[in-house]
Amino acid sequence: MDIYKVKDKTDIKSLRLEELKEEFAQMGEKAFRAGQMYQWMHQKLVRSFDEMTNLSKDFREKCKQAYEYTSLELLQVQESKLDGTRKYLFRLHDGNVVESVWMKYKHGNSVCISSQVGCRMGCRFCASTLDGLERNLLPSEMLDQIYAISVHTGERVSNVVVMGTGEPLDNYDNLLQFIKILTDESGLHISARNVTVSTCGIVPNMKRLAKEHLQITLALSLHATTDEKRKKLMPIAYKYSIQELMEACKYYFEQTGRRITFEYSLVGGVNDTKEDADELIQLAAPLNCHINLIPVNPIKERDYVQSEERQIQSFKANLEKNRINVTVRREMGRDIDGACGQLRRSFMNKSTEDQ
Ligand code: SAH
Repeated sequence: MDIYKVKDKTDIKSLRLEELKEEFAQMGEKAFRAGQMYQWMHQKLVRSFDEMTNLSKDFREKCKQAYEYTSLELLQVQESKLDGTRKYLFRLHDGNVVESVWMKYKHGNSVCISSQVGCRMGCRFCASTLDGLERNLLPSEMLDQIYAISVHTGERVSNVVVMGTGEPLDNYDNLLQFIKILTDESGLHISARNVTVSTCGIVPNMKRLAKEHLQITLALSLHATTDEKRKKLMPIAYKYSIQELMEACKYYFEQTGRRITFEYSLVGGVNDTKEDADELIQLAAPLNCHINLIPVNPIKERDYVQSEERQIQSFKANLEKNRINVTVRREMGRDIDGACGQLRRSFMNKSTEDQ
């Protein structure tokens, strides 16, 4: 398996069980060794080959020569005093830094992970994209965020949302491999129904994902109801029209039977009027979807402001009157560098100041 590489070696944690079996067969090792190792990596969540005590020392040495074993270095944890939400900052093997979030809900614990280091999508209100894309995350590096948080909290993770830094459908192959390992019964075995992938709307890859027939939820970051308005917030709108997006959403539902989520960040005076709500109803009504309204989280680099509470409530009421499924996202961890990419950014700015 040559596609997953770290420091010129195969990244063992990015391999599916069948692939690991093939690898070991080529090394002349017994197939059950692959099962044992997979369990250490993806269920027992150990951080190195040395902790795999039922594998011989010789075999562990052989693996160390042949493979790279990724694990994250925990740099910082911030815990919200309001709701217990925790933001984690991790260092990757090459010094890059990613952030992830842990949220406790009544229905279980949720982890929000990053899919890339930085992002090249350029959404105007988002902190993650301000410095562009550094690189894609490997499947192992997406898994590691969940594993490290699971070990740190000592609690089971039941939901995973790919809504942190990065555009997951801009890192398609690694994302797919990550989902396969995450939902595999020989690993953490998180139900696909409890996995959400959020995209700014890369239409061809939304369709590709539909054809995988996974039971994951696809969330589309819509944020505007006309192409003209969407272009002002999201450069991707120059590439794909809202009509194409709606067709891709319909196709996703047809292929998977999974209801689409629309994310709609309410920005004061930009996309929160009665007219916007009416247009959103027109778009949403023909589809089997759910709308998640997110009061925009202001970032200091831009002057976008949150809609007033009254405006948010009347926007929501308008949708409800028209029988659209809608919720307003509860803001978690407002007191700890809230918005996407802000923690990583404040950390990086501080480290450049320190130099
Ligand atoms: N690139 C993917 C996933 C990462 S962003 C996507 O675009 O969906 C996750 C969600 O947070 C998206 O809906 C994004 O538009 C939203 N978001 C980013 N910055 C935000 C901010 N400052 N306030 C509110 N929502 C924001």
